[in-house]
Amino acid sequence: MPQTLAINSDYKRSLLEGLELFQGVCPDDVQELLQNCDRRDLAEGELLLSPGTRNEYVFIVLSGSVNVHVGAPETPVIATMEVGACVGEMSIIEDRDPSAYVVGAEPTHLLVIHQSVLWDMVHASHEFAKNLLIVLSERVRSHNRVIADNYGELRKFERHATTDALTGLSNRHTMEESFLREIQRCEQDEEPISFVMIDIDNFKTFNDQFGHMAGDRALSAVASILQHQFRPRDLLVRYGGDEFAVLLPGVDEKLALSIADRVRQSVSGETADGSDSLIQIPIRLSMGVADHEPGGTLSSLIRAADAALYRAKDAGRNRVSN
Ligand code: GH3
Ligand code: MG
Repeated sequence: MPQTLAINSDYKRSLLEGLELFQGVCPDDVQELLQNCDRRDLAEGELLLSPGTRNEYVFIVLSGSVNVHVGAPETPVIATMEVGACVGEMSIIEDRDPSAYVVGAEPTHLLVIHQSVLWDMVHASHEFAKNLLIVLSERVRSHNRVIADNYGELRKFERHATTDALTGLSNRHTMEESFLREIQRCEQDEEPISFVMIDIDNFKTFNDQFGHMAGDRALSAVASILQHQFRPRDLLVRYGGDEFAVLLPGVDEKLALSIADRVRQSVSGETADGSDSLIQIPIRLSMGVADHEPGGTLSSLIRAADAALYRAKDAGRNRVSN
């Protein structure tokens, strides 16, 4: 229970000077009201305010400090309120439960102002009312800062969630959006659209022979070649493991077969002009090609390309099938 505040008037005057709600307030205006305020000792780790517990007080830190946590008291501290700062004012003004957890950061002394006394102080002193508005606008500002920071973090997470870390390509989760959008666009424009599933041949053996790190470098090299070989309009993703998927808007199955075979040759070094292999490692690719049929879905397109890929593997690998 709060104890009655037993302090003399000189102390009260000097005490008021350092408190944000009492900056510039004439002590005479609030002297009597302060007599109605209490003091509370808060231990380190003790909960002062929490969402779900009604609050009727504004607490001003006289010594020590309190930490503010959002979501749960165990979450990281989002703010520490030092001597002179107040907490609890938002829940009183909004007449709602506190929006955060406030916990003693160390043994702390608090001035406790009941909401009825707070409103009396607002009536008694313009300076007090102005200070309260300043405190509230600072709260809004800091909330906006937190929102802006979180938005930046969110964008970072989204980027990480959609990009494959090893190759820098988009991952398969992006297909639902980007591939579907292109498919719909080609349907509307009555353009053909093809899909190629690409899988590295015997990649397990490559890892076994050259090590997993060399395998990683080979995967990055293949991704880079694929990126250069397909047009910017084509959508290339790392489908998973040693598999890549490409959507070729505006390309029918016949053309997709020849594009895929040109790409396959460029990786294996079997270029028509006899030039050297682009990567000096024994990497070969198998590919399955399918074209989008009216009424088909992205899943049916993937299934058809997958089946074609298995036909390429069955037929001896290092080839393109439909
Ligand atoms: P197949 O010709 O039938 O495709 O044979 P495969 O050995 O390539 O077999 P499969 O495609 O089923 O296996 C892919 C292998 O790729 C499994 C795993 O050892 C390897 N792999 C998958 N992801 C990575 C990766 O990120 N880095 C490395 N180094 N290897 C990977
Ligand atoms: Mg493979």
